[in-house]
Amino acid sequence: MPRIAYVNGAYVQHRDAATHVEDRGYQFADAVYEVIAIAGRRLLDEEPHLDRLGHSLSELGIGWPLVRPALRYALREVARANRVSNGLVYLQVSRGVAKRDYVPPAGLQPVLVITAKSTPAPSEAPGPGVAVISAPDLRWKRVDIKSTGLLGAAINKQKARAAGAWECWQLDERGFVTEGTSSNAWILTHEGELITRPTGHDILAGITRATVARVARQLQLKVVERPFTIAEAQGAREAFMTRATSIVTPVVRVDGKQVGAGAAGDVVARLRAEYLRAVGDSEPFW
Ligand code: PMP
Repeated sequence: MPRIAYVNGAYVQHRDAATHVEDRGYQFADAVYEVIAIAGRRLLDEEPHLDRLGHSLSELGIGWPLVRPALRYALREVARANRVSNGLVYLQVSRGVAKRDYVPPAGLQPVLVITAKSTPAPSEAPGPGVAVISAPDLRWKRVDIKSTGLLGAAINKQKARAAGAWECWQLDERGFVTEGTSSNAWILTHEGELITRPTGHDILAGITRATVARVARQLQLKVVERPFTIAEAQGAREAFMTRATSIVTPVVRVDGKQVGAGAAGDVVARLRAEYLRAVGDSEPFW
């Protein structure tokens, strides 16, 4: 079955899907994106992802490429056309195509691209966990805007992989963890407090982060939004990361030091299972 992509109103073969060389997304990273997980033919946390897209677009003064119901429909069409029961849908909106100039002309038509792909269904079990390394945060100062300017993140993710780790926890100038390159960072202290950095311009307001915080509070866990250091993470009872496409994933090594028992902890496992329950009640779309 051929993969299908959506490019500005047309459903096309994935291998032929293209935008123009003077798309501002290509030349300036003047584009924003979202990744929404699909599980059991359901889009997980769709509305908050679209709300965050709205934030990214409005911070950059880019218009919605489609009205929201039409965008919801297009996301489903691409998922359906690719028979994605479990996986993700990716959408990107660039400011549009224009002669290369830092200052964009007024009235550009945004370019919308949507793709989807299948992945294994998310397991309720949290798995063995992953290792993370740390490195200075190389990114720009508005990472709350989910822009396609991902070079700093890509460099740090490659650094992690070269070190045999899955993720890189990035550090601000004071040595506090901002977040992973594609995930939010959390620890559980020995006092039983869940710690994650507050939202602001220096992290992406993760949708999974917000849902996990809500679920945790419902479970009577204390969530404290404050920065933490690598030393604190290494000495924590549990550590984990959150992101749409892997939900809640245990972090069992930080810069080579084992965290807790070096395996998924009870709280991580509970939060993962509760997250799946919390987001699994929408209507299947095909
Ligand atoms: N931080 C960054 C930098 C990310 O790229 C992502 C993945 N989109 C996240 C956090 C997690 O966000 P979400 O839970 O919305 O996937």
